[in-house]
Amino acid sequence: MKTVYVDNNATSRIAPEVLDAMMPYLTERYGNPSSMHSFGGTVGLDIKDARTKVAALIGAAPDEIVFTSCGSESDSTAIWAALNSYPNKKHIVTTRVEHPAVKNLCETLTKRGYRVTFVRVDGEGRLDIDQLKRHLSNDTALVSVMWANNETGVIFPIREIAELVRDKGIVLHTDAVQVAGKIPVDVKADGVDMLSMSGHKIHAPKGVGVLYVRKGTKFSPFLIGGHQEHGRRGGTENVASIIGLGKACELARKQFTKDMVRVKQLRDKLESVLLEKVPHAFVNGDRENRLPNTTSIAFEYVEGESILLMLNEYGICASSGSACTSGSLEPSHVLRAMGVPFTAAHGSIRFSLSTYNTEEDIDFIIEKMPPIIERLRSMSPYWKKAAAALEV
Ligand code: PLP
Repeated sequence: MKTVYVDNNATSRIAPEVLDAMMPYLTERYGNPSSMHSFGGTVGLDIKDARTKVAALIGAAPDEIVFTSCGSESDSTAIWAALNSYPNKKHIVTTRVEHPAVKNLCETLTKRGYRVTFVRVDGEGRLDIDQLKRHLSNDTALVSVMWANNETGVIFPIREIAELVRDKGIVLHTDAVQVAGKIPVDVKADGVDMLSMSGHKIHAPKGVGVLYVRKGTKFSPFLIGGHQEHGRRGGTENVASIIGLGKACELARKQFTKDMVRVKQLRDKLESVLLEKVPHAFVNGDRENRLPNTTSIAFEYVEGESILLMLNEYGICASSGSACTSGSLEPSHVLRAMGVPFTAAHGSIRFSLSTYNTEEDIDFIIEKMPPIIERLRSMSPYWKKAAAALEV
């Protein structure tokens, strides 16, 4: 059975060019980049080259790039670096819709003496900038706001936030894990101090991430160890993955970001045809200001998990807007923060496309999805009740 993969915000396939670039470092080029001999030293030079490619994708200088193990480590490192650099400040500003990598750490910090403002979003997932502005104070060490939401794709106005934070002695961190390689990033013009990226979201392997640290930003390492990464992250480098990430960033800069025009057309076709064919369905989030590859569609009165299982029967891989916690299906914190009604949040499905998706993929989903929803609704007590009330 063919796999139709539209879950790229969860993880993405390794680009063939990336795998080719990595292979020598998994086989014959196994030297330690810190070694004095040239067998290792040349590997160090190759890491330098990868660093330059990553920097070029986001408009940074190569020495502002710190390689980590994943997006979550980059987020944690940024948050701890800001807090450790300003030990007298005890306030953090973040949002209600962050990825758990930021959300759960910030929640933990509230139990360790920090005050955290979780800025709200409106029904379209747009950030309440006025609330953010009102809560900035002399006690604020860090503002950590994701650039784009992983569930809805809604993009936050990072430049505007940078303007608000500038000159206040507050560190601005952004989780750009879903952004890099999809929309242009220019860290200098965008005005962020730290920015997180993750390899496996941009066709590089799992187990490698990036933290951009603007020159001049106070920093303390999270992983204290050897002198690697100029003392900013100890531990022998994950060489093959770093080389792979460098290649993926090069591809993103030259190809993937441009291809997002086509990807957006596919996303828009999927969305508009499904909305036309399936009654009682709507898009979660601001449709104007969104990542080009993402759509979260609420199919009212059905359970997302059941939809996913039926899509799975056809080899279609997507995600739902619920998380299975302690045996009960809870709508995601993102959809709850947006105030999406229970009956819609439960039936929300995220489709996230990539450069590897084709028109045939989209046509296949469009063909399979409406009968799945119809079948599930015919079995749903919620739908029967709603349909009776609506006289459908
Ligand atoms: N931040 C966002 C917005 C994400 O979507 C993810 C992964 O889904 C992460 C952070 C975590 O990245 P990683 O899986 O590399 O730790």
